[in-house]
Amino acid sequence: MRPTFCKHCGAPIVWIKTEKGKSMPCNKTMVPFWENPDAKGKVVLMNGKIISCSFDGPRDQVTNFGYISHFASCSGARDFRNAKR
Ligand SMILES: [Zn+2]
Repeated sequence: MRPTFCKHCGAPIVWIKTEKGKSMPCNKTMVPFWENPDAKGKVVLMNGKIISCSFDGPRDQVTNFGYISHFASCSGARDFRNAKR
């Protein structure tokens, strides 16, 4: 895994290879997640598995730690037009 920097905002990112063989830029910092098939959140595990989850829940029931797509939080990506404030 090579650490690199986002060319849009300069944040440190890591490239995770997903199960489908695609490399996906993710935030370098792992976040706790709570697995939930009905939740809209997506997290990528170190082994490339993508899981639906929420990012809030009881601390003692956290599922695991994973990476979130950098595009979801990048402040500089021009392609990301529907960015929430
Ligand atoms: Zn960025």
